[in-house]
Amino acid sequence: MTVLKDGYTLMHEHVTIDLSGVKKDLDCRLDCFDETVEEFRQLYEYGVRNILEVTNMGMGRDIAYIKRVEEATGIQLLVSTGFYKEPFLPDMVRESTVEELAELAVKEVQEGIGDTGVRASAIGEFGTSKNEMKPMEEKVFEAMSLAACRTGAPVTTHTTLGTLGEEQADYLIAHGVKPEKIIIGHMDLSQDTKKILAILEKGVNVGFDTVGKLNYCPDTFRVKALREIAERGRLSQVVLSMDITRKSHLKAFGGIGYGYLFESFLPLLRENGFSEEEIDMLLIHNPKRILEQRGEREA
Ligand SMILES: [Zn+2]
Repeated sequence: MTVLKDGYTLMHEHVTIDLSGVKKDLDCRLDCFDETVEEFRQLYEYGVRNILEVTNMGMGRDIAYIKRVEEATGIQLLVSTGFYKEPFLPDMVRESTVEELAELAVKEVQEGIGDTGVRASAIGEFGTSKNEMKPMEEKVFEAMSLAACRTGAPVTTHTTLGTLGEEQADYLIAHGVKPEKIIIGHMDLSQDTKKILAILEKGVNVGFDTVGKLNYCPDTFRVKALREIAERGRLSQVVLSMDITRKSHLKAFGGIGYGYLFESFLPLLRENGFSEEEIDMLLIHNPKRILEQRGEREA
């Protein structure tokens, strides 16, 4: 069972990831150990004590690397199981049955990943394409729903530009996953507050987890939407992160870095009337509730 350290938690990050094969772009291989450690030490200074690492099978997940970063920085790095989305799904997804995929995820949650002895704290990030759930993506959704029901582990999804968020929530709930254990990811990118509120009404959580990706969505939208969500009493269902995935996102290579959330976004929230209690809700209490509570039950 997952126990968080006291402090802030980022809920959707990649410490190391490699999508360069499919994307044909070496920038998508994030493997900059020293630069990452340097940024994480700064995060520690800002009060970050936990990060949910959502890189899984087919995305270049590297548990040994993650553990080395954890040891060098003191930030607890929680890892994930599952499969991402088309066209990043490994052959295993096509070649295995839904039951086999589910059992592999259950094993990684309950016993550990490979022979590392490190257990997955979440199932994710698995997702859908833009406005479309492709057949192999549905297979993953079915298998991951089974794994979530059997383990009680939280699930965290990827929506492409915030599309199909409602459909993802409906699918998971219909397949027995408890709403409070679900995080629908990247919903800030929908830039549609009405849609986000409709998803929150279902009792699931949403990720405003691409903070600082201004080419996709201005932070002013994120702040305005969060204000409206708070006024509707739904801020307890939102988590924050940045989803750093490229070398060029790191400060050393000209990017905004993992620290942006603390250096730029939190000041913007405070300027716009957010209290420390609300910020603590987003970065401490909501992650703790979602990651620590397990609703184990018989399959
Ligand atoms: Zn991601």
